Amino acid sequence: MAEVATKSIDKAAIMAVLDTVPDPEIPAVSITDLGIVRGIRDDPPRVMITPTYTGCPATLAIEQLIRDALDQSGFGDIFIERQLFPPWTTDWISERGRERLHAYGIAPPDSSATAECPLCGSTDTAEVSRFGSTPCKAQWRCNACLEPFDRFKCH
Ligand SMILES: [Zn+2]
Repeated sequence: MAEVATKSIDKAAIMAVLDTVPDPEIPAVSITDLGIVRGIRDDPPRVMITPTYTGCPATLAIEQLIRDALDQSGFGDIFIERQLFPPWTTDWISERGRERLHAYGIAPPDSSATAECPLCGSTDTAEVSRFGSTPCKAQWRCNACLEPFDRFKCH
């Protein structure tokens, strides 16, 4: 190894790779859409990620997906580091992420008591269960079209 580690890493290229990593629970959105990726740091070069929900079983899967994506793109020397503070909140979901959640039929997180039905747009909705298809989502039902839907839990 004659070459000394380069001081600058191609952060844009790494972010482009991370953009392609889907959330294991909701493949319609990427981990960058969800705001899981906090940034890329130098020395040593590493990707900072903040897990969404504490104890969310997807966290390990997400780390593995990032590892695989980096390795396959020639970034095998980039570390992954968890950054727990400040804790992730649903506010970090990007505008694109919210649009993708909506298109996927999941109500984006909102601190209001009502959720807009992603199917018909009605706000005449009610929470059915705190636990939807995954621990990170609550199950809601629309009183207008009677369809159930998931809503991202607010943190
Ligand atoms: Zn509806």
